[in-house]
Amino acid sequence: MPGHGVKQPSCLRPRPKTGFRLRGFILYACLVGLGLALLIGLAGAAPPSGKLLVAATIVPLGDFCHQIGRDLVQVQVLIPPGASPHLFEPAPSVMARASQARVFVYIGAGLEPWAARLLRSRGSKNLVVVEAAQGMPLLGLGQQHHHHEAAGAQGHTGKPPDKAGAHETHLAGNPHIWLDPVLAQEIAGKIAQALIQADPGHRAQYEANCQDFQAKLAALDREIKQQAQTWRLRDYVSFHPSFSYFARRYNLHEVGTIEAAPGREPTPRHLKNLVAAIRRYGIKVVFAEPQLNPRVAEVIAQEAGVKVLRLDPMGGAPPYGSDYLQMMRYNLAALDEALR
Ligand SMILES: [Zn+2]
Repeated sequence: MPGHGVKQPSCLRPRPKTGFRLRGFILYACLVGLGLALLIGLAGAAPPSGKLLVAATIVPLGDFCHQIGRDLVQVQVLIPPGASPHLFEPAPSVMARASQARVFVYIGAGLEPWAARLLRSRGSKNLVVVEAAQGMPLLGLGQQHHHHEAAGAQGHTGKPPDKAGAHETHLAGNPHIWLDPVLAQEIAGKIAQALIQADPGHRAQYEANCQDFQAKLAALDREIKQQAQTWRLRDYVSFHPSFSYFARRYNLHEVGTIEAAPGREPTPRHLKNLVAAIRRYGIKVVFAEPQLNPRVAEVIAQEAGVKVLRLDPMGGAPPYGSDYLQMMRYNLAALDEALR
């Protein structure tokens, strides 16, 4: 602090006047340059990098775009890590920036109800849109899980959709398709098509990157299948119905969900039923999710005398960051601990 008799290290002390002028000019030039870059960015022209601007709603979709576009794209993820997409809506400033993108990638199926507004305000001019869930047969909420004690341990995968648990954010069905590595390959293909449509000059790169990423997803699928075959238990309790597609793919059985819809507190009766189901199915673990308050999961686990582990449907946090493949391997390890 100046004036307190503390001697600054020489690198922080002001230089003689001659050097100061030059540095002042360089600083000024940098500020002007930065201002221009910002103006260009806000005006919606190509980013200074010349990369294709892509907006994706959730972290995993952002990673897919990055894997397929690599150096050719600049990806903006609209829902920040740590937020639940069910409860979060991007700020107007984020929406404004997203509306500059050439490619917009979202899940659909009711996950991002605000996306329609973004698309309306942007208009279809020069925008390539990927709705990942489009054309995919969706599970209803409650299709993979059953809250009633009368339900047996088997026979859930073939059940017709049961809309009893549907919530306004999930009206179009269960949106968590990206957590099935086989459906993820389909999503990757759709993203590659969109990037090619927006930037046909780099078709070969997008196709090669997509094939490469799809091969990694297929390897992940084989790995999960192999490990799942060794599990002694098939039943689990999730925090919200985020792993329903995953469960269908690998023959797991979602005995119940703590929150039928994210952010909706379960009733005492529902909690009592869950604890009873945990005991009856010999379940060892209750799953919490980093985007949602784990308190209820902890209460249930304590009541039932089981452990709480974390399943992450979204990513963006250490140790895997925004890497989808690593996040899924983290989830696989948690499931392995719970079900083996
Ligand atoms: Zn969800």
